[in-house]
Amino acid sequence: MRTFDWIILGAGTAGSVLAARLSEDPAVSVALVEAGGAPTDPQVGVPRAWPALQGTAIDWNYATVPQRHAANRVHAWARGRVRGGSSTINAMAHVRGHPSDFDAWVAAGADGWGYRDLLPYFIRSEDWDRGASPYHGQGGPVSLMTPSDPHPITRAYMAAGEEIGLTPTPEHNGPRMAGPTLNSLTIKEGRRQSTADAYLTPAVLARPNLHLLERHEICGLSFEGQRHCRGVELQGPEGIERIAAERGVLLATGAIASPTLLLRAGIGPADELKALGIPVRLDLPGVGRNLHDHLLSGGNVYRARRPVPPSRYQNSESLMYIERPHAGSERAPERVLACVIAPVVTECFAAPAFGEAYTLMFGFTQPRSRGSLRLASADPTVAPLIDPNYLAEDYDRRAYLDALERAQAVGGARSLADWREAELLPGPQCRSEADRLAFLARAAYTHHHPVGTCRMGTDAEAVVTPKLALREIEGLHVIDASVIPRITTGPVNAAIIAIAERASDLLRGRPPLAPATWA
Ligand SMILES: Cc1cc2nc3c(=O)[nH]c(=O)nc-3n(C[C@H](O)[C@H](O)[C@H](O)COP(=O)(O)OP(=O)(O)OC[C@H]3O[C@@H](n4cnc5c(N)ncnc54)[C@H](O)[C@@H]3O)c2cc1C
Repeated sequence: MRTFDWIILGAGTAGSVLAARLSEDPAVSVALVEAGGAPTDPQVGVPRAWPALQGTAIDWNYATVPQRHAANRVHAWARGRVRGGSSTINAMAHVRGHPSDFDAWVAAGADGWGYRDLLPYFIRSEDWDRGASPYHGQGGPVSLMTPSDPHPITRAYMAAGEEIGLTPTPEHNGPRMAGPTLNSLTIKEGRRQSTADAYLTPAVLARPNLHLLERHEICGLSFEGQRHCRGVELQGPEGIERIAAERGVLLATGAIASPTLLLRAGIGPADELKALGIPVRLDLPGVGRNLHDHLLSGGNVYRARRPVPPSRYQNSESLMYIERPHAGSERAPERVLACVIAPVVTECFAAPAFGEAYTLMFGFTQPRSRGSLRLASADPTVAPLIDPNYLAEDYDRRAYLDALERAQAVGGARSLADWREAELLPGPQCRSEADRLAFLARAAYTHHHPVGTCRMGTDAEAVVTPKLALREIEGLHVIDASVIPRITTGPVNAAIIAIAERASDLLRGRPPLAPATWA
């Protein structure tokens, strides 16, 4: 049996970071296991083609259970099945989150993961295009660019934000997140830079101590006795193989697959496992709980007065975070708008033609609804039951209504008059609160940020410790979106990179970078 020091499961966002950092030490052998392979579809590199990657062979194509509070709709959930994982199919916005997001993790028991702890890791990970700054790094793996030639509709929408009283901010990842601004994008020389492109460079992949096992699907975790994870069973091109880890197995398969693999190994809520006939290895009730996601919407759509030229970037050049009135910048903004240079509607509505419309997507950043991921069957080929429980909480529905109002205020502002022919969705006839809620249930659309299913913490429902080690199991860590206790205010890829960066130091037995004192 092949044996490595570390086995990393999943070459997605977190797995790519871990593999690059752990293999820096030539004396340490690392296997990186991935079901997909290097991307071959030329569309992957083209920033504005990202929506077309959903539903293709490099997407796991998950689906939620019907969502009771969202018109009983089943929501498609894309996840990358490819080198780079979901960062190879994502929308490339690089938003770290609000400082209070990380401080809330610490308050909930995740010691060591506060904003000042993570800021040095955000900085270490990046190569920012806008010069020296105490908030940014240069020379790191992740290339961040700011659109130099934003779309005229994006400019008009940012001006509209100012017109309704929002104060612009230079960028999301500095001292102030909220306000009209352009996104930082993971685009390099005009092409997508996935987290794998950033970290698994040809030089890293050429390291003799890094073994990339692509097109190998993980069938299950293997244990010595009940509580010591020693390796993994894989289905590769040559059949089933077992590989072993001397130092540990690192689960980085993402917020859906990581809890699924744990449940299949008998680690999870004992009653649920027993009901499915799965022998219980460890009763850990938090596995698969706390599933949550950001919702955007498809959408507040406008017919344009004249042909809309294509975006030079990824169609969504500016997220606009909106604070509560008088809240102050130390509180996380609770609403977000996204200006999309395309019509975006859900399956419930007819889409106008491309080039004839633009969309203000809108959402809320601090969802309170929590759902779960459960197994439907002991049969490993049966997909899990994914239930984000969208819009179950009244707070979420109120916040969503308010976000729609903000979108319409921006969309109806004078600054967009040159582009706006008419509001198509929800449209002028949708006025009463009941009508607007019914519209939202049909327009609800994932922002693609599921997190939380193997939450870190110290309470009874926590799945991993603040060192990201699985509780009461030896030799197993979880390091990916699933450990996030509460979703960050923005998209989550940047935070996952920082989590994996810091985790790599902990695993190497290095002291973590000193917390930032300047922010
Ligand atoms: C369409 C879309 C748009 C998005 N847009 C943005 C955005 O603009 N900005 C942002 O910050 N975030 C965005 N995200 C979210 C972000 O990309 C993800 O949250 C992040 O990539 C998740 O990282 P991860 O390491 O947890 O998992 P992933 O990156 O999903 O990696 C998991 C890896 O594990 C592999 N794997 C899973 N199961 C198995 C198995 N059984 N055997 C072998 N391998 C397996 C997968 O193939 C995958 O490569 C978007 C996501 C999507 C899908």
